[in-house]
Amino acid sequence: MAVKNALLAALVVALVAALVVVGVTPLGVSPPAPERSAADVFSAGRAMLLLREIAAAPRPIGSGGAARARDALVAELDALHLTPHVQTASAVSAQSGRVAGTVRNVVARLPGRDPSRAVLLVAHYDSVPVAAGAADDGGGVVTLLETARALAAGPRPRNDVIFLFTDGEERGLLGARAFLREDPWAYGVGVVLNFDSPGSSSPVLMYETSAGNGLLVRELVAGAPRPYTSSLMYEVSRRLPIASDFRPFVAAGVPGMSFGALDGPAFDHTAYDSLESFHARSLQHEGDTALALARHFGDLDLWDLHREDVVYFDVVDGLAVVYGQGLVLPFVALATAVFAVAVTVAFRRKLLSLRGLSLAVPATATVLGVALLFMAVVWGMYRTAYEQRTWSTTGVVISDFYRLGLVLLAAAVIVAAYEFLLRRLRPWDLAVAALFWWVLGAVAVAVIVPGASYLLTWPLAGAGLGLLGAVLLGDRALHSVAGVAVTLAGAAPGVVLMSSATYLLLMSAGLKQVVTVLAVWLVAGLLVLPLEIVRRGFRWWAPTGLAVAGAVVLMLVGSTVAFDVEHPRFTSIYYRQGERGAAAWQTVDRVDGWTAQFLPDAPRYTFGAGYFPEMGLRTTVAQAAPPLRLPPPVLRVVSDTTMGDRRTVRLRLRSPRGAEVVSLLVHSVVGGLTASVDGLPLQGSDTTILDGTTVRWWFDYYAPPPAGVVVTLRFAAGPEVLLRAVDFSYGIPPQLAGQYAGRPPGMLPGRIGDGTLVERTLRLPAVTAAAAPPITR
Ligand SMILES: [Zn+2]
Repeated sequence: MAVKNALLAALVVALVAALVVVGVTPLGVSPPAPERSAADVFSAGRAMLLLREIAAAPRPIGSGGAARARDALVAELDALHLTPHVQTASAVSAQSGRVAGTVRNVVARLPGRDPSRAVLLVAHYDSVPVAAGAADDGGGVVTLLETARALAAGPRPRNDVIFLFTDGEERGLLGARAFLREDPWAYGVGVVLNFDSPGSSSPVLMYETSAGNGLLVRELVAGAPRPYTSSLMYEVSRRLPIASDFRPFVAAGVPGMSFGALDGPAFDHTAYDSLESFHARSLQHEGDTALALARHFGDLDLWDLHREDVVYFDVVDGLAVVYGQGLVLPFVALATAVFAVAVTVAFRRKLLSLRGLSLAVPATATVLGVALLFMAVVWGMYRTAYEQRTWSTTGVVISDFYRLGLVLLAAAVIVAAYEFLLRRLRPWDLAVAALFWWVLGAVAVAVIVPGASYLLTWPLAGAGLGLLGAVLLGDRALHSVAGVAVTLAGAAPGVVLMSSATYLLLMSAGLKQVVTVLAVWLVAGLLVLPLEIVRRGFRWWAPTGLAVAGAVVLMLVGSTVAFDVEHPRFTSIYYRQGERGAAAWQTVDRVDGWTAQFLPDAPRYTFGAGYFPEMGLRTTVAQAAPPLRLPPPVLRVVSDTTMGDRRTVRLRLRSPRGAEVVSLLVHSVVGGLTASVDGLPLQGSDTTILDGTTVRWWFDYYAPPPAGVVVTLRFAAGPEVLLRAVDFSYGIPPQLAGQYAGRPPGMLPGRIGDGTLVERTLRLPAVTAAAAPPITR
């Protein structure tokens, strides 16, 4: 008897584990096609050759790296006879109204046979300053290039296909905004397909669509060889402030979809995003998708793609389900009806009692509460132990596997709680009570977040059927292989879909503890009858095993938390030249073995605030540096007029040394400040104070043209105004770089990397309202 129970328990554990593995294994991706593949197919081998060129070095907007990547793009597109042009325009950031820049987008077009509207493929060729950006977004760039090559080699599509390589995406979607505002080709776009990946090794997920996605998604499923997608991600991503080139197009009413590999978000925007960490398999999937969809949409009539929203998800590899949102409520009603039938039959067979149910419903809810509390404590302790080492401001030092440890621990607590309850209450009452919460959840989600409804509706329907089968078997369901088969078959849709969704959220959204615990609790609720079998066979070994596994994973991950060659620390050094040529070395990080050579007087640091583009006003550790007399930025008054009590000052701001960024700061109190650059409105008044330095307003301009930019400030006329111009270039001055040791292994530049900053101030004389005549210089 005991042996039979143990065997049944082992069967349950093995099958549940297998279902979880099916759920978290997204797609079997095809291997990369070799360089010598046929001309009209997408070859990741060929694309990797291009990626080695594009992602050889960081290419932030305005940098030499960006210029080299742009030249390479134009040359490739020229060779394909796609007549590329470089669109040069100013744009203001989508995220901050005080960041702007001059972008240089590369645009090319493959003319169609008989165009309706154009298919637009977009990827950004800029990267963050410290990353070679192989994944983000070198992969997208070479996907477009290789797709263009394969398309040109094959039969000509009906529609025009436009390839847009944007600049300045990382600084606020500057390129996409400039394209939409000014490029004449923007008006003929019928559908946009955006390729941009934070991750580098997983299959490429279609994670975002425009609203009214019914036709788009059906065409995706019809056109892409292995669509990987979920309307759960649509619901999640449209609620998140995700910054991608897709957003400005959606805002402009252009229908489309966004694709990306979402694994390893900790690597994104760090020096780890390089060729070494990039996987050609991911690129093959991205390219197969891009080429198939360019052809598919290339032959469709693109005049109107808006339809009703649909629910969509992958069941298993290659099999996607799509249905209209009008069916969401009928399906929930159906699933609830199945459950109700099972409950009715169970009552008839006297497997349930009202008293038992009235205890089991609150008891199952208590399981969730206990698990949430326990995990909050565990996570709090773990964070405290590895605080400051956990995330990417100091370095990427923690493996994403810690999340697996947390899932295992949550499962341990929940299984233990259920085993405790199963000793006191009947399994049938508990199983029905757990599904009662599923019914509530399914109805709520169907009404509030219809795109995510599949995640509860189909598991509930399956579990309802499983329950009905188990009820018909009666108590044999708890003692036989048939019972295991019926209950697990019923739970299978839920275990697979919930594991898959949890995995997606773990990878992409940095899953919160609450969601992890909730997902595990929901899955356990589908498995109450199998859990009874496990309890009888294994006693407390199941929760104990899960707890030990979770603890071991967390400890292993914890033991690798350290700054070493595998897990470098982020550290950067800046050379700042102040007003009268005085210069200083500065860092915003903790002084370490490398920065100590610039800042040797360890105990006598001077702390002070310094302004940095992107990072703003930061406390620095500083020490005098050799003066170099670099040419300071030019800040010149073009005109200064006062009408009534409003003063309008036009300033030309430029960097004679050709720095990549120029910033303008207003230090004085000015009333009702409004501003614009090259005629584009900027965000007005704001204040930040640090170490006694006050900045009332600031503004960064990336990739300024040699003649500079014209900034217009309007504010209440009054006392003298102190302005400061700061220009920033990547890297420390080459004259000095040779005198210091390079960064050792185990250290990498963080955020904006090393840099050189040169400052100059300008005082605008006091003006009394109305009395002063206009001055023009
Ligand atoms: Zn990107």
